[in-house]
Amino acid sequence: MFRSETMRTMTDVDALQPAEAQAIRDRLDEVAAKVRTAANEAHGSPEAVRILLATKTQPAARIRVALEAGFTLIGENRVQELVAKAPDLADVPHEAHLIGLLQKNKVNHTLRAGAACVQSIDDVAVAQKLSARIETLLHEGAAALAAEAPGTVRGTSPAQSLGTTTGTASGAEHADHITSGIAPAGAVAPVLEVMLQVNTSGEESKSGVAPADAEALAEQVRVLPHLRISGLMTIGFPGATEAEIRPSYADLRELSQRLRETGALPADATALSMGMSGDYALAIAEGATMVRVGSSVFGARS
Ligand SMILES: *Cc1c(COP(=O)(O)O)cnc(C)c1O
Repeated sequence: MFRSETMRTMTDVDALQPAEAQAIRDRLDEVAAKVRTAANEAHGSPEAVRILLATKTQPAARIRVALEAGFTLIGENRVQELVAKAPDLADVPHEAHLIGLLQKNKVNHTLRAGAACVQSIDDVAVAQKLSARIETLLHEGAAALAAEAPGTVRGTSPAQSLGTTTGTASGAEHADHITSGIAPAGAVAPVLEVMLQVNTSGEESKSGVAPADAEALAEQVRVLPHLRISGLMTIGFPGATEAEIRPSYADLRELSQRLRETGALPADATALSMGMSGDYALAIAEGATMVRVGSSVFGARS
């Protein structure tokens, strides 16, 4: 609790056996090589697919090994875990996504923990609450935003003002459009990246909006001033064969294309977050731009 940052960092790393850390690095190399090959085949560029490390149940010390090896994107399923690990990883640059269910009463915690993206939006009420919370913080000022929703001012350190952009051209444009009249001149409005989670497998146990309801959800989320939809996410069908697995990923790609054509999704909402340890190569072949891998990097979860 009262140790310095440096001390805590050393303790975290020392808590891992060197062999355990090396095993994580070796598996990362292996997964990254496979992702690059598949991305090159599917998209013509080995860089086209981002690797998100699904870090549920993993202690911060193991996640740190991956971040220090140069991986920057992690995803937590539970808000509680996101909140618990955020302080331990604050000194390593990274981007944290929420990839599991978000309940309305956890919106403030999620923002405060620094989430840069919520991939699991399947309910307009939660999306509205996220946007409204950011709006409230915007009115409270830059310090409140930096403390309570740091992931919405990405590209700026907490010490900087909001006078810089959130990074992407589209984000900046969007932000310009919505800040008029609210923020001081030159400021850019805070925006949280979100993805819409679609249940493409049809299993009742899975969360995500039904494909038939995705267009209505996209239209409702799209108009929220402090959210920017970057794309769609799905868990996919846990099949044993390629023929069983691929259709749920093909469906997400086709849905994304259709919703961008109708204008329900912004034209630049091209992200497709799909594919896990067992099937990411198939997901990439079907157009994934982001895969979420856990056990292939960190080992089987106990
Ligand atoms: C756990 C999890 C993953 C990763 O699963 P692995 O099979 O361990 O790679 C991906 N996405 C979500 C939503 C998860 O919960």
